[in-house]
Formats: sequence, structure tokens, C-alpha cells
Amino acid sequence: MDIRVAGVTKEFGDLAALHDVHLDVRPGELLALLGPSGSGKTTLLRTIAGLVQADRGQVLFGGLDATHLPVQKRQVGFVFQHYALFKHMSVADNIAYGLQVRERAKRPSRAEIRRRTSELLDLVQLSGYENRFPAQLSGGQRQRVALARALAVEPRVLLLDEPFGALDAKVRKDLRAWLRDIHERTGKTTVFVTHDQDEALELADRVAVLNLGRLEQVGTPDEVQDQPATPFVMTFLGQAT
Ligand code: ADP
Repeated sequence: MDIRVAGVTKEFGDLAALHDVHLDVRPGELLALLGPSGSGKTTLLRTIAGLVQADRGQVLFGGLDATHLPVQKRQVGFVFQHYALFKHMSVADNIAYGLQVRERAKRPSRAEIRRRTSELLDLVQLSGYENRFPAQLSGGQRQRVALARALAVEPRVLLLDEPFGALDAKVRKDLRAWLRDIHERTGKTTVFVTHDQDEALELADRVAVLNLGRLEQVGTPDEVQDQPATPFVMTFLGQAT
């Protein structure tokens, strides 16, 4: 599913968190929103999700105007930095949650839910963890469960906001390769927010660089590194991490 952000502006009081942002996310690509803290990454992701309403501009999904479509109807899957797994539910129940709360006519059978949960656990390499509880998992494992839960409802797009932000450097690195692999297997259009240029450059098909609410450049990792379009992109990507 392609996503088009067409001239989106979002102001909070005097502050333009997003200023006339135009961005096309291609079907099946993994696009990273990269920029320093406060550059508007989360606001842009939340505008795509329908959690923030733009002041001006449009968001289109598959060419259709979704600007006023409520979040529940956008069919998007989320993973946030601070995992919000349900503490009192098993891993399997966390993953199945989105399916179990569907109205009866749209709810898969129990057997089907069990089958899907086990397939997703296999995909995120946590087979055998069905009956564990979140407290019994590492931070990285919890984020893997959160991704399985986001995928369970078969979203049209996947929106990830610093999903590895709270984890230590070694785990973050391992999860990059893992997420890339999952992305290749599911082919799901994915927008990934990060302030870490190494993470963006290693993971993404294309990188969108934001600064002070403006989109500075969109390009492949090679393009933004070798042909920075603005002084900001050159300086930001030139920083050692
Ligand atoms: P990033 O994700 O790149 O750190 P954000 O999108 O969170 O940036 O924020 C962009 C700017 O908008 C920041 O200056 C932030 O303080 C401001 N902002 C974001 N959300 C709100 C809000 N709900 N109310 C007021 N200001 C906000």
C-alpha cells in the first residue's frame, strides 16, 4: 500500500512541528524518518496514523484520501518505543488481542487465531513463548512480540516509532538485521522513526531527513550520504555516532 503525504502542516501554538511536508512512501518499502529530537518525526508518523490531525494538507492511502479517516479505520499497525504489552496477558493473548476484540462476524475462529499466533511467533523467532508473560521477556523480546501483535491484524502499513529506542546498543544492532529480515519476508510498507543515522542507513530502502519540521531530503542511503541536498543533511549525516 502506498502512502502519500501532500503538503502537511501541523502547528502547536506558534510552533510549526511540520511545515508543508510532501512525502511518498512506495508500496512495500521500508522508509526511515530520520532527524534530531524535535524535528517532527513523531508528529509526521502520528499524522500518517491518524492520531494527529493535520492543519493543512492531505494523507492518502493507495491514492484514496484518508485525511479524515479515524485511526481505527486506517488499518495501520504500530510499535512504539515503550512497549505497551498487556502485563496480565500471555504472549499468545497479547498477539491475538486485536483479533479477539473484533466484532463477532469478523473474528476468526479460535483454531484460526491459534494458527495465526503460532505463525507470527515463528516469524518473530519466538516459537515456544506462547505462555510466557511480558515480565518474563527481555526488552528485545517484548518488542518482537509487539511487532507480532501489530502484524496480527494484517495492517496495510506498519508504523514504528523508535521501536528499539529503549534498548541497549548491542540488542539494537541485532534487531536491525532481524527487522530487515522480517520486512523482506512480509513485504509490508513500513515507516520507521529514528534519530540514529546508522540505524536508518542500515535498515531503510530510503531515508527521509527532517529538520525543524521541514523535509530536507528523501533518498536511498547512498544518495543522502553521497549527495546531501542541503547543508543540514551533510552535517547531520556527517556526525559520528
Ligand atoms: P521528534 O519526533 O522528531 O522528536 P516531534 O514530532 O515529537 O519531534 O515534535 C516536533 C515539535 O513539535 C517539537 O518541538 C515538540 O515539542 C512539538 N510538539 C509535538 N507534539 C506536541 C504537542 N502535542 N503539543 C505541543 N507541542 C508538541
